[in-house]
Amino acid sequence: MLPQIVNQPDSSKILAIVNQKGGVGKTTTAINLAASLALEGVKVLLIDCDPQANTTGGMGVSRKDLETEGKPTIYELLMGTSTAAEAMLATEIDGLKLIPGSKNLIGANLELVTQERREYRLKDILDPVRKDFAFILLDCPPALDLLTLNSLVAADGLLVPMQAEYFALEGISELMSTLDRVAQTFNTKLALEGVVLTMYDDRTNLSQQVTENLGTFFGDKLFKTAIPRNIRLAEAPSHGKPVALYDPRSRGAEAYRLLAEELLTRNKIESPEAKKRATAAEEEAKKPKQKKEMKFWPYTK
Ligand code: ATP
Ligand code: MG
Repeated sequence: MLPQIVNQPDSSKILAIVNQKGGVGKTTTAINLAASLALEGVKVLLIDCDPQANTTGGMGVSRKDLETEGKPTIYELLMGTSTAAEAMLATEIDGLKLIPGSKNLIGANLELVTQERREYRLKDILDPVRKDFAFILLDCPPALDLLTLNSLVAADGLLVPMQAEYFALEGISELMSTLDRVAQTFNTKLALEGVVLTMYDDRTNLSQQVTENLGTFFGDKLFKTAIPRNIRLAEAPSHGKPVALYDPRSRGAEAYRLLAEELLTRNKIESPEAKKRATAAEEEAKKPKQKKEMKFWPYTK
C-alpha cells in the first residue's frame, strides 16, 4: 500500500469570516485563527478585505510603510493593477502571509459596479495562488456589500463569529439567506463552515442559555471551542501581533490554538506540529528512566 500523505491537504480551503453585525470579533478571529493555524505548521494566507484595514494594522503593517515601499494592497488587486503574488507580505510567523487592506476599498465598492465579472474579482485573483495554502482566511467588513459578495463568491465556507447575547440570532437569518442566494447564483460549493462564539463569558446564565439555543439551531456547525473575553486579545493589535506572539500563555491564545486544532480536525488535516509533539513525547517515553542520584551532605564528587 502506498504511504498515506498526511499534512498535505489535496485542496485548500477559502474561508470568509463574515457577520454583517459590527464588532463581533471577525478581525480578532481572522488574525488569531490564521496565526494559530500557521503555528500548527500549515500554510495560511490572511487577506484584509475590510476598508477599516484593522487586520493589516493588527498584524503590524502600517499604511505609511505600504506607501513608502510602494506595496500593492487588496484594492490594487481588485482593480486589476497588481497580482496576489506581488501583494503578499511575509509575517513574523513562518507559513503565514498577509495581503493588506486599504481605505481605498471604500471606493472599490462603487468602482467595481461598472466592471466585468465584478462579483468574481477576488475568486479570479485567488485561483492561481490557492494551491500554495491549506487555508485562506478573508476578513470581511460588517456589511453585505460588493466586497463581502466578492469574498462569498471566492470562498468555500463561511466562518461566522458571534457573541452569545440575547439578540445573537437576529441578523443571522439574513446572513443565511444571503449564503443561499450566493450559493444559488454564483458559487454552488459555498457552505457554512461553522459558527464560533466570541467574547464568551461562561459565568452567566444568559451565555449558557444562548449557547444551548445556538447549539440547537446550528447543530455540529457550532464550534465546541468558544473564545473567552480576554484583555490580551484586545491589547495584542496595538502591538501589531497576534496574541500567540504577544502573550502565548493567555487564555485568548489558548482558545484560538484550540479553535485552530478543531478546524484542522474537522477538515481531517493532521497538524504537523501536533505530530512533532507526539513523536517527541514518544521518544521521551522510550528513554530509559535515569535513576536520580541521591546526594548526601557533605557532597562528594
Ligand atoms: P468590525 O465589524 O468593525 O470589523 P469585528 O467584527 O472585526 O468588527 P473585532 O474588531 O475583532 O470585531 O472586535 C471588536 C472589539 O472587541 C475590538 O476592540 C477587539 O479588540 C475586541 N475583542 C474581540 N474579541 C475579543 C475577546 N475575545 N476578548 C476581548 N476583546 C475582544
Ligand atoms: Mg473587523
